[in-house]
Amino acid sequence: MDWHRIRSDFPVLDQQVNGHPLVYLDNAASSQKPRAVINTISHYYERDNANVHRALHELSNRATEAFEQARKKVGQFIGAKTEDEIIFTRGTTEGINLVANTWGAANLRPEDVILYTGMEHHSNLVPWQLLAQRTGATLRHIPVLDDGTLDLTNIDTLLNEQVKIFTFVHISNSLGTINPAKELIAKAKAVGAVTFLDGAQSVGHLPVNVQDLGCDFLAFSSHKMCGPTGIGALYGRMELLEKMPPWHGGGEMIFKVSLEASTYKDPPHRFEAGTPDISGVIGLGAAIDYLQAIGMENIHRHDANLSNHAVQQMRGIPGIRILGPDGHRGSLVAFHLDFAHPHDVVEFANSHGVAMRGGHHCTQPLMKRFQMPGTTRASFYFYNTLEEINRLVEVLHAARKFFT
Ligand code: PLP
Repeated sequence: MDWHRIRSDFPVLDQQVNGHPLVYLDNAASSQKPRAVINTISHYYERDNANVHRALHELSNRATEAFEQARKKVGQFIGAKTEDEIIFTRGTTEGINLVANTWGAANLRPEDVILYTGMEHHSNLVPWQLLAQRTGATLRHIPVLDDGTLDLTNIDTLLNEQVKIFTFVHISNSLGTINPAKELIAKAKAVGAVTFLDGAQSVGHLPVNVQDLGCDFLAFSSHKMCGPTGIGALYGRMELLEKMPPWHGGGEMIFKVSLEASTYKDPPHRFEAGTPDISGVIGLGAAIDYLQAIGMENIHRHDANLSNHAVQQMRGIPGIRILGPDGHRGSLVAFHLDFAHPHDVVEFANSHGVAMRGGHHCTQPLMKRFQMPGTTRASFYFYNTLEEINRLVEVLHAARKFFT
């Protein structure tokens, strides 16, 4: 793979920040966009812009065709049985809220348990906590070991027949841990629990196939995988989607409306009320084309090289504590330096052109578990280079001199 040529597809990377070449290492928060995605969105607005599903004129037909084509691409990309199992949302957060408010509200009783893990992003905690308050269901979690993996010692007690839904993150945004999704889903199925996989950090980074994994739901965000912000997708197994009541009501999701009552369309349209983010959906489709042309296996391998190199190099910095597993990990390294607060490290790095994130990364329970107020996180994508990681390490050494 010619990764340097691929990097040149991303115009934003070619700039100086604070007098230094930009080193963008905040990809777990949001990735950059290749020209192919930017051009697809511009083309849509310049040539095809119209509302979808409603009119019979040429532009609306073109917009609808491109929109529904993108649904097919998403479905194929994650191995759904049919594109009707793909619901467009604003992102991972909205996908989780949709399931909690529809499937959850219709199915949970006070005697049921919602199981999640101690490494969830707030967006995979708060919606379930709200649901537990409304339904009386109990919340339970799988603890995290010191090495950043799940403590599965008591899994058979935690994941028992009381569990109605087991929801967990595929790749942790704060540790880089890649959870054994297929095995955990199989265990949940064995006790009759529904499974929800938070794919925010995995879908753009490794091959994800929902039929192979066996999950009932999967949510992810376009902006973390080369697509535009404000759009994402929720996969739901059709047998479940068909039985779920709507969430938002409005245009597009109805079959018939009277002044007294309404009937609703089949999935996925039942869950897509109002005018959707048309250019976002089309841009997500272009991002998937782009990623597939590179190949998800290639991206995963390159990601792993970058994070292995980073961990090796960063271990040499005195006073560093690296979180997460020693071996195979997602493309990010979160760490704590004993000489400076994460916000100071991030500001220092920014003054040298290196973009990172510092704080709790929307995983406050995990920070409490590791007794840290926050960490600094360097997160990579396939357009990053080993030279950029070396530059990061150089800047961290300089930070040590500066702060001590
Ligand atoms: N889950 C994980 C693991 C994440 O990393 C994120 C975003 O950082 C989310 C959920 C929420 O994604 P979004 O803000 O795109 O809805």
